[in-house]
Amino acid sequence: MKFDEFGGMYVPEAMMAPLNELSDAYRSVAADSGFKDSLDEILGTYVGRPSMLYLAKNLSKAIGGAKIYLKREDLMHGGAHKINNTIAQALLAKRMGKTRLIAETGAGQHGVATAMAGALLGMDTEVYMGSLDVHRQRMNVFRMELLGAKVHPVDTGSRTLKDSINEAMRDWISSYENTHYVVGSVVGPHPYPEMVRDFQAVIGKEAREQIMECEGRLPDYAIACVGGGSNAMGMFYPFIGDDVKLIGVEAAGRGMDTKEHCASLTLGEKGVFHGMLTYILQENGGQIAGTHSISAGLDYPGVGPEHAFLKDSGRVEYVCATDKEALDAFMKLSRTEGIIPALESSHAVAHAMNVAGGLPKDDVVIVNLSGRGDKDLEIVMEALK
Ligand SMILES: *Cc1c(COP(=O)(O)O)cnc(C)c1O
Repeated sequence: MKFDEFGGMYVPEAMMAPLNELSDAYRSVAADSGFKDSLDEILGTYVGRPSMLYLAKNLSKAIGGAKIYLKREDLMHGGAHKINNTIAQALLAKRMGKTRLIAETGAGQHGVATAMAGALLGMDTEVYMGSLDVHRQRMNVFRMELLGAKVHPVDTGSRTLKDSINEAMRDWISSYENTHYVVGSVVGPHPYPEMVRDFQAVIGKEAREQIMECEGRLPDYAIACVGGGSNAMGMFYPFIGDDVKLIGVEAAGRGMDTKEHCASLTLGEKGVFHGMLTYILQENGGQIAGTHSISAGLDYPGVGPEHAFLKDSGRVEYVCATDKEALDAFMKLSRTEGIIPALESSHAVAHAMNVAGGLPKDDVVIVNLSGRGDKDLEIVMEALK
């Protein structure tokens, strides 16, 4: 399936068999209430769903505009939304008779969430990680090992995420008989963008019911940060057909006039990466450009193909927030509400503060608080010096 021209399956021929097998399996469980019941049970008893929808009264008052609600994915097991997807994929893999999970990870958050799912469901878990990232993210490597996963440092190329993606694909081509490749966002070849969106859509479905309960109506805005785009797609998808303004916030890093950002939708060009056609940050006629963001989770040179489609169709607006704006929002939410947000989520909070400031008091803005900030303390401490 494609999102207009975006998405697709731009992969080596040898990867078509496992992808087709996964598509078929996903289609069959999507219609299977047994699968949904098992997943709901884990989401309720292990992940901690439903996550709260919290009216941030102090923050709203300090901004002096619309009511700001926070969807508290930061309270989910592991401290972010990522577990919604890894648990669901691991459960699907188990149904398919697989005994082993593989994943690639940049900052390590997705590797940790995959290792948790592997431990819970009793599956062997191996994670590819660029050797530079292994060094930079030692604590996450140790977390994965504690959870029983094996971490493979990748020494080729730039020794970062795109090299570990290549290694994971190579592994899967020769191992798919017993192995499932857990992709961490709404990226990669079909069926991943659609499947991960559906697994994360629990966020928006809950938010929709919760806001109807609190306010008796839909929100005026829903705002989320965009790295690969899974927490944003999960929040947006159940509101796509409604009169709700949807805004995705990319990382402008050190500024849009520098090369140090990861605003793939705002400044990228169409191209193929990670098995999909989407907007990508490129240089020198097609090389993947270097990226920067203060938040490791937004530091990805591409973006999910459905976001590319939603941008071109005009249904979703995409904007950017700089490192500095994200840091200011990080401080503001910590001080006003006693909630320390992830730096990724702080980008969404920053833009929500701007939007809410210009709206009447009765308007309603929902921000997806994709994760908690404990993992970012060292970076913030450094940045505040
Ligand atoms: C990984 C991560 C993100 C970025 O990933 P998406 O697929 O864009 O959601 C955002 N927030 C947090 C807390 C993360 O860990």
